[in-house]
Amino acid sequence: MAQHGNETTGGGARAATPLSFELFPPRTDAAAIALGRTIDRLVDVDPAFISVTFGAGGSSRDRSLTVLRYILEQTDVEPMAHLTCVGSSHAEANDLVRRFLDAGIRSFLALRGDLPDGADPDAPLGDLGTAAELVQLIHRVQQEREPFQEVEVPGNPGASRIRERARDTRVAVATFPNGHPRSRDLDQDVDILLAKEAAGANLAITQLFWVADDYLTFVERARTGGVTIPILPGIMPTTSPARLARLTELTGVQAPAEFAIALEIEPDATGRTDIGIAFATDLAAEVLAGGAPGLHLYTYNRHEAVLDVVDRLGLAPNPQTTNERNVTRR
Ligand code: FAD
Repeated sequence: MAQHGNETTGGGARAATPLSFELFPPRTDAAAIALGRTIDRLVDVDPAFISVTFGAGGSSRDRSLTVLRYILEQTDVEPMAHLTCVGSSHAEANDLVRRFLDAGIRSFLALRGDLPDGADPDAPLGDLGTAAELVQLIHRVQQEREPFQEVEVPGNPGASRIRERARDTRVAVATFPNGHPRSRDLDQDVDILLAKEAAGANLAITQLFWVADDYLTFVERARTGGVTIPILPGIMPTTSPARLARLTELTGVQAPAEFAIALEIEPDATGRTDIGIAFATDLAAEVLAGGAPGLHLYTYNRHEAVLDVVDRLGLAPNPQTTNERNVTRR
């Protein structure tokens, strides 16, 4: 599995710039079939992982797990499970983590999650109030499942050492270059990211953003504040004004007016696709030039736009590698 870090370029046949994608669990059988095809196409560019979102309050738990299992069993790409803890008791959160580990999942995006729309924002959040606590819980449950074992040291009778774990658990967390809607200021976002790292997070993935400098300045601020884990930029190619408006509403992050207007006034769907993909490609190129350790692309369960961005950036592995992988894939 490719590592994420400014110094890391991935190994073997992996693309030099680590790529990853986000999907959400489908709601219908038809959507599930379409998603299978999407995953097969995404796998062709050799992503470091594919993450699958988790509905607030666990509403999508089984559907998320089905998609994660498909990735685990039908591809050689690492599946990453988003998990949320808001509203859960300790026992429920423990059980949830155990269930995903039992299914073979070893990469997580630990999130607090949000209370349902209309809930009292000051209502109790459950036993785990922050994502940092979920990060700790994931590591603890993993350690309980795989207790340390001692093995003999060859050539040294009587001596023993602790057996190395087969594979470390990757625990990623969310971070917000433009500030979480409920945070006081960006310093608080950095402090919260630092707390997540102290709890054991080894990767951060950003909320989507529209201006490269917002990401780059936030990373600089985080480094000054003591954050050392890789901070992966999250980018969503957006090709419709309706979706752009919805994303602005959901995240509170405003897109540049020229981009919003260009999408709005373009009458032709192909023209809008071009505008959205060109914008995302430029944004990705700028953050990569500024030192981003890879790209995390929000797919909206479609492969076309994200793969177009990957292609325009020249990050797709060569076709021969792709064909070989198709033949040898499990
Ligand atoms: P936290 O980091 O725990 O905290 C969020 C905010 O709470 C902070 O910014 C701060 O305002 C406050 N806070 C936290 N700790 C403290 C503290 N110690 N002191 C004071 N204030 C504090 N949601 C889903 O339901 N499902 C998903 O699959 C999902 N995937 C996501 C993927 C990404 C990449 C991102 C960026 C977000 C995702 N979300 C998802 C949304 C996320 O759950 C919400 O943004 C939620 O409000 C915050 O989650 P968090 O893990 O960042 O929480």
